[in-house]
Amino acid sequence: MIERQAQQILSVHPPGVEGLCVGCRWWWARLAPYPCYQAEWACRWRARAATRHFVDGLA
Ligand SMILES: [Zn+2]
Repeated sequence: MIERQAQQILSVHPPGVEGLCVGCRWWWARLAPYPCYQAEWACRWRARAATRHFVDGLA
């Protein structure tokens, strides 16, 4: 399920104190500014899903 994946990505890639992604730093020793590619994708997906639910609710 993509929704589960998106939630998992968000839980693994939280924003860090210096504006860096904690997950990327922890898993790959990579200093990626937050939101990193993964977190951005998951956020976008969630926003899109929320919009879809909203529109479905109106219909
Ligand atoms: Zn990340």
